[in-house]
Amino acid sequence: MTFYADLAYLISAFLFLAGLKQLSSPATARRGNQMAALAMLIAIAVTLVQTEILTWTWIITGVLIGSLVGATAARMVKMTAMPEMVGIFNGFGGGASALVAGAEFLNLQQAGVLPAGPGSTIMLAMLIGAVTFSGSAVAFGKLAGYITGNPVTNNFLRFLNAVLFLFIIVSGVYMVGWDPDMTIFLAFIGVALLLGILLVNAIGGADMPVAISLLNSYSGLAASMAGFILGNMVLIISGALVGASGLILTNIMCKAMNRSLANVVFGGFGTEGATADQIGAGDKTARSVDAEGAAMILGYAQSVIIVPGYGLAVAQAQHDLKKLQDLLEDRGIDVKYAVHPVAGRMPGHMNVLLAEADVPYDQLYDDEEINDQFKDTDVALIVGANDVVNPEARNPQSVIAGMPILDVDYAKNVIIMKRSLSPGFAGIDNPLFYMEKSMMFFGSAKPSMQDLVREVRELD
Ligand code: NDP
Repeated sequence: MTFYADLAYLISAFLFLAGLKQLSSPATARRGNQMAALAMLIAIAVTLVQTEILTWTWIITGVLIGSLVGATAARMVKMTAMPEMVGIFNGFGGGASALVAGAEFLNLQQAGVLPAGPGSTIMLAMLIGAVTFSGSAVAFGKLAGYITGNPVTNNFLRFLNAVLFLFIIVSGVYMVGWDPDMTIFLAFIGVALLLGILLVNAIGGADMPVAISLLNSYSGLAASMAGFILGNMVLIISGALVGASGLILTNIMCKAMNRSLANVVFGGFGTEGATADQIGAGDKTARSVDAEGAAMILGYAQSVIIVPGYGLAVAQAQHDLKKLQDLLEDRGIDVKYAVHPVAGRMPGHMNVLLAEADVPYDQLYDDEEINDQFKDTDVALIVGANDVVNPEARNPQSVIAGMPILDVDYAKNVIIMKRSLSPGFAGIDNPLFYMEKSMMFFGSAKPSMQDLVREVRELD
């Protein structure tokens, strides 16, 4: 059995690697996901059979129930709630690893002393797993709007974090080196959970992309630690892959926000400082345009850059947007998409949405690739985006100062499709709406886009 189990683990590890490789292109990403899911199924089934935890009947029953719950959840969760779901999944991953660490602690603790190697791994897995669990719960609350998106941080909380962290180190070393006392272990778990809450609560709404990818990486690290505890090679490999890819993603997100990781974790960037007079129109006026007017401007342009944002996902207007793209291209207009890395509510959100509508991948450009082109573009059409096109980011006094944006305000005309003048996720007003070249096309993106498509069709 061991030979076959090792072989199955090897196949599983290979499938994880191959799956990850396929995820690097939207064309093959779906297959990559399926390969990784198959790898996980093989790994779990082999582990259960090999360790004689369950019989095949139980495994198949479990797979059927799990698949039913998973498929129903996947169908019911709205696309716009995906980030929250990813947040919860990260948390569950961390929580599961913490439970493994806890169980192994109970096993070893009876001997009265923890061996240094397994003991340190248990402490690390418990720390990272618990921080991931409670931190992800806070991230979920922030994304779902249950708790404030403002960064909750001050000198006292920073000092408290330092004290809690010191406690983690001292108590961890004491339990591994001297006495694996149950009360201290419970305090260790409580402090780790509190640290997770405080650390993520200190991260502002606009920095959530970085927080989510960092927690994703933590959940992988915790799983890898759990793999060491259980002596399970495939868990070590899959956890390390998640940990490493999560770190790469964190780095990409930090770059997209032009922020260092330390700055995100300790800086408290977000909506803090946005005052009532920064939000709302005040005495500024915004010009509006209707479907007919917008169709005239778009239909007689030579070049159009479309900027999708979170509102496109909310309205599910991607298919109508693709129809507009096709109509404009039929009229000989050059159409490109400018996709900001943090547009939407999860990394790659816009790419997934546009891929769903069969927008060719080679028509998507990120900020660095396209920003130079806005000045020569007739129309920038913004569909439900706000923060990623907010020129306030160029103002050193602004709370989003330094965040790279799409330079839509350099285009000759700007049409903005959204329902009102209200701010985006970062909670600050957008001066773009009040510029002379800007036109607000008010309404929910889907019906507005359908009207626009109809009007463009009617142009001669
Ligand atoms: P924003 O959240 O800045 O703005 C979205 C806009 O969409 C809103 O201003 C809203 O305006 C509009 N909107 C909402 N519903 C509709 C609708 N049905 N039809 C038309 N418009 C609609 O989005 P961006 O994509 O520009 O920026 C993303 C923000 O989210 C950034 O601040 C980013 O940091 C943050 N974030 C990103 C994550 C990621 O991983 N990508 C994760 C977490 C946060 P109105 O109400 O007037 O319609």
